[in-house]
Amino acid sequence: MVLIDGKKISLELQAEIAAEVKTLVANGKKQPHLAAILVGDDPASQSYVNNKVKACLNVGFKSTLVQFEANISEQKLLSKIAELNADPDIDGYIVQLPLPRHISEQKIIESISPAKDVDGFHPINVGRLVLNLPTYVSATPYGIVELLKRYNIPTEGKHCVVIGRSNIVGSPMSILMAKNTNLANCTVTLCHSKTKDLKYHTLQADIVIAAIGRPNFVTADMIKEGAVVIDVGINRIDDDTAPKGFKLVGDVKFDEVSKKAGFITPVPGGVGPMTATTPGLSN
Ligand code: NDP
Repeated sequence: MVLIDGKKISLELQAEIAAEVKTLVANGKKQPHLAAILVGDDPASQSYVNNKVKACLNVGFKSTLVQFEANISEQKLLSKIAELNADPDIDGYIVQLPLPRHISEQKIIESISPAKDVDGFHPINVGRLVLNLPTYVSATPYGIVELLKRYNIPTEGKHCVVIGRSNIVGSPMSILMAKNTNLANCTVTLCHSKTKDLKYHTLQADIVIAAIGRPNFVTADMIKEGAVVIDVGINRIDDDTAPKGFKLVGDVKFDEVSKKAGFITPVPGGVGPMTATTPGLSN
């Protein structure tokens, strides 16, 4: 079994981007500037955004963090977005999700200029992804394709089963894996909560990508010997022995599945670090 080290790959990727930025700036081009909007004080969101800001610093991007209290009005958030859309110094930005319930996420996503939508959530960018046109691709699926590529994992003609069909992970993941490119070309099955006999599907998979949000859901009996297992899930479970009283686990029961898999991502240290690195990269 090969452990896919997302932390190592994300640092390699950052070093490569840093070299590109250095060349850009040396040639008199503008230093890329990424911004992030964080609403409220959800610890997980704060941690994601902090990691993205850190990644910006590592690659030599300018970064701006815009923070609002959870009770900010939708109108005020829309005004800030309009400001970022119009600011020529901002090349791209993210609005960290989820947003408080009184704010429509869809309205916010649709107000982001597609040209600055580095998360690739705007309907125009999702449409471009489906049509195989150059676009920003949602960070987590992009990071996963990059992991497969850097571990030289063959994908062409393979059967990839994606579990989960969210707009930010599962759906774009299934589209990317089915693309007619040498980094994909898989036959894709997209499973979700209404899928009948999930195990029937996963047992046929050469590559399983789990993006469900349920701790230890994928067990060894669901996985074919030697399969590639990508665990997107980040779930907090109580752990009295941990300093914070909880630990992070994935959607895959790592201890048993790792004995059967050919390649597997750990949680933490697998997909997560890639997600912090890939916003702003386009296909
Ligand atoms: P969502 O809750 O938006 O989507 C979960 C998906 O899983 C849904 O499509 C749902 O089906 C499906 N699902 C739920 N239960 C089952 C089941 N019993 N069998 C089959 N499918 C099921 O989650 P996200 O996609 O946003 O996130 C998934 C996980 O990934 C979370 O743990 C999240 O924290 C993590 N995550 C990790 C990132 C990283 O960088 N590592 C980045 C983003 C997310 P249905 O559509 O029918 O409801």
